[in-house]
Amino acid sequence: MTQWRSLAERMVREQIVARGVRSESVLEAMRSVPRHLFVDEALRESAWIDSPLPIGEDQTISQPYMVARMTELLGLARGETVLEIGTGSGYQAAVLCAMGAKVTSLERIASLADSARERLDGLGFDVRVIWSDGSPESRPAGPFDGVIVTAAAPELEEWWSGVLAPGGRLVVPLSVMPGGQRLLLRKMNLRGEYEDTWHDYCRFVPLLKGRKGG
Ligand code: SAH
Repeated sequence: MTQWRSLAERMVREQIVARGVRSESVLEAMRSVPRHLFVDEALRESAWIDSPLPIGEDQTISQPYMVARMTELLGLARGETVLEIGTGSGYQAAVLCAMGAKVTSLERIASLADSARERLDGLGFDVRVIWSDGSPESRPAGPFDGVIVTAAAPELEEWWSGVLAPGGRLVVPLSVMPGGQRLLLRKMNLRGEYEDTWHDYCRFVPLLKGRKGG
C-alpha cells in the first residue's frame, strides 16, 4: 500500500481531531506510524477504519481514537520512560516510541510478544517487549514517567502506581459496569499524592492473569 500516508492523515482528521484530540505531538505520531503493518495482511485494507481489529489469540489492536486519546492523557515529553501493559500488536508501543518515549511493554501471550518484538524491530521502533503478565517475578522495577494499561482492568493494581516516578501519570481503562470501562488518569504530584480524573467510556479486551505459551 503506497498511499498509506494519506489514509493516516484522513484517519487523524476524521476520527481523532474530530473527537477533540488536540496535542500536535500525538497527532504527528499517529500520522507517522504505519498502522497497516500492525495487522494481518488480509486486514490491511481495513487498518485505518474507526474500529479495533483482530490480531489473533482472541485479542485486538485498539481503535485509533482510543490509542490517540490515551497517549494524549499520558502527557508525555520526549525522553520520558513509559511502561505499557498489553503489547498486543505493538501499535500503541510504536506510537509512544514515535512520541520520543523510552518504551517497555509487557505481553502475557508469548506468541504475541514475539511477533510484536519482531515487527517493532523490523520497523525501527526501539521498544523493550517482555513476556510478562505483570506478576512480581516478571515485571520491571521502574520508575516510569508513564504507565499505560491497554486491557480492561477489573480493579486498580497497586504496583502500577508504585512504579510511577514523582510527577508520573497512569492511564487505565477501569471497569465501571459489566463489559464497560472508563479511562482513569492518575497523576502523582511531586509530593507523592494522587490526583485522579475520569475520561472516556470504552471497551477493551480483559486484563488476565498468568503467562500463556513460551
Ligand atoms: N496495545 C495493543 C492492544 C492491546 S489488546 C495494541 O496496540 O495492539 C490487550 C493485550 O493485553 C492483549 O494482547 C492481551 O494478551 C494483553 N494482556 C492481557 N492481560 C495482560 C497482563 N496481565 N499482562 C500483560 N498483557 C496482558
